[in-house]
Amino acid sequence: MKTLVFASNNAHKLEEIRSILSDSYEIKSLSDIGCDVDIPETGTTFEANALIKAQYVKQHYGLDCFADDSGLEVEALGGEPGVYSARYAAINGQTQTGNKDEDNMNLLLARLQSCSSTGFTSPALNGRKGWKASFCTCIALIQDNDIHYFRGEVRGHIIDEKRGDAGFGYDPIFVPEGQDQTFAQLGNEVKNTMSHRARAVEQLAAFLQS
Ligand code: IMP
Repeated sequence: MKTLVFASNNAHKLEEIRSILSDSYEIKSLSDIGCDVDIPETGTTFEANALIKAQYVKQHYGLDCFADDSGLEVEALGGEPGVYSARYAAINGQTQTGNKDEDNMNLLLARLQSCSSTGFTSPALNGRKGWKASFCTCIALIQDNDIHYFRGEVRGHIIDEKRGDAGFGYDPIFVPEGQDQTFAQLGNEVKNTMSHRARAVEQLAAFLQS
């Protein structure tokens, strides 16, 4: 069986990947290979950040590896928060509640309320205001010294109130296209059938199994 490193220590992501690839690959985490470095994500695109992490492992451990980077892009804000999704409030000096996800959502909603785009209402948004947005995941794979990218996207809207308890990050304010509930209301099982991450992982798995 071949070995591949997934440059992450996120237990949920590792479990998801292992369940898909366990027949043909042994997937090792960063801690499995003794890497405890928090690899700095200094890129300005999802592709660049994913590649930085995969290259770090290849260079320091000589192992084939893949890494991912994800985020939310809101059209009315010129693609913000993008690669800064995880640290959006922190890098803007806006930490207040001690809960990173809450701070990030509060800042995003405040910026949308004051931006030039007034948003729009539709029955699917239950009368709430919505702004076009998409989640994106990029996976960079380094295998046999070749680099391959896999990109998954889900389009939808950011709405102006938080709904639901499931998931993480911006899930309570994101309604995916074709749905009238947020990711946080739909829950992980439904989310995993349509999410940006699932779509990128599907492409990676199809490539590795081909
Ligand atoms: P990561 O690269 O997968 O760690 O994602 C970076 C950040 O993007 C997260 O910390 C979240 O703020 C946001 N994000 C990525 N994927 C999701 C998602 O599926 N739901 C909500 N927020 C997400």
